[in-house]
Formats: sequence, structure tokens, C-alpha cells
Amino acid sequence: MARSKVSKKLMRRSRFRRRITFLAILFVVIALLTVVIFRHRISPTFVKDRPVAVIDAGHGAFTSLGVIDVGTSHYGLNEADIVLDIALRTQKHLESRGWVAVTTRDGDWTPFNLAQRSTFAGALKADVFISLHLNSHTSRRAHGLIVFYWRPEDKSLAELLQKRLSERLSLRDRGTNTAPFSVLVWSPVPAVLIELGFLSNRREAMRLSNPQFREKAAIAIAEVLCEWYSKTQRQRK
Ligand SMILES: [Zn+2]
Repeated sequence: MARSKVSKKLMRRSRFRRRITFLAILFVVIALLTVVIFRHRISPTFVKDRPVAVIDAGHGAFTSLGVIDVGTSHYGLNEADIVLDIALRTQKHLESRGWVAVTTRDGDWTPFNLAQRSTFAGALKADVFISLHLNSHTSRRAHGLIVFYWRPEDKSLAELLQKRLSERLSLRDRGTNTAPFSVLVWSPVPAVLIELGFLSNRREAMRLSNPQFREKAAIAIAEVLCEWYSKTQRQRK
């Protein structure tokens, strides 16, 4: 009788210990899960220490026909290839100037559709989004540079790029323009679309096919973005 009382007591104790252990483990698991889930909310406010740019090399997505969109093509040159090269060079020059620069593609193909390219810039809290393209016209004589913007507050950035790039690259200044391009309309951050010359114009196509010109264009874009960014920072102070 006494033995069974002792064994019952021991059983109750071990059950009690098991419950305590179970509750302790449960508490630790809940605490860890809380930290994992809410870590980004309880961390101090996120401070960016470097400006961020998203450079969109135009085209490169699959068309409804299931082929990759290469943009306009003239003289054996594809717009998509040329703007990709300029985008990657611009990325390098921005990074060397202290920026975080991200491109929407680093090869022929991108998974981003047009709207996703600029919303991606929003997700990255980018300071600027630039989309690179080349123009085309039925008249092969048409030539020069156009920078497009959509939101009125992006006009000054477009005008600065238009002025500096046309001067530095000796491209005809066709003036800035507004157009409801998807990449501009959907962008939650300052956004411009640069038509860096006409691929349909023989002279400009030959220039764009030259890596030295593309390098010069990339350096010019990076430097104008630096100029614009430091100006916007000064205005905020
Ligand atoms: Zn294009």
C-alpha cells in the first residue's frame, strides 16, 4: 500500500516535470518565432548609407509569341544588346562612385514585365530608376537624344540628363518629353526613360556599336546621377 503511494507520488512528479519541460520548450519556441517574425519591426529604423539606383536595360522579356523581345533592330544591331551593355557599364561606374546599382537583367532575358521593373525599384527603396532604350524612325535621318519622364517632379532630373548627355555625347538635343510608358507610370521612385540616340540612323548606330562610345555614355549617366543626387540631398537639408 505504502509502496503504491510512493510510486504514485513519483509518477505525479515525473508528469509534473514533463509538463514543465514541455512548457519551457514551448515558451522558447514561441519566443524564437516571435523574434524571427517581428525582427524587422523591432529593429531600429532602417537607414540607407548609400544611394540606390535601378538601371533597366530595356526589352529582354518574352513576347506573347514566346520569343525574347530584342527591341528595335537596324544594321545587324539589336537595341536590347546595346542597352544591356550600357546598363552594365553604368552599374559599374555607379558602384565605383559609392552607389548600390541594380540592373533589371544581366543577360538576354529578364523575368520582369514592364510594370514589375519599376515596382522592383520601389521594393528596393531606390533613389532613382532609369530605363535605357534606343529610338527608331521610318526616316533614317532622325537622330538625337530624348529623355522621357511622367511625373512632374521628375522633370528636373530628365532635363539635367537631357542637357548633360546631349552635350557630353554630342547628340542632338531633341528636348525632354512626357509619355505614359509603363515603367514611368508604375514607378514609385523618381523615374526617367532615356532614348540614347536612333538605331535607325546609320551614324548613331555606328557610334552605338562602338564600345568606347558606350563606355563614355555609361560614365556620363553615372556622373549626371551623382550630380542630381547630391543636389537633391542639399535641397533636403
Ligand atoms: Zn526600346
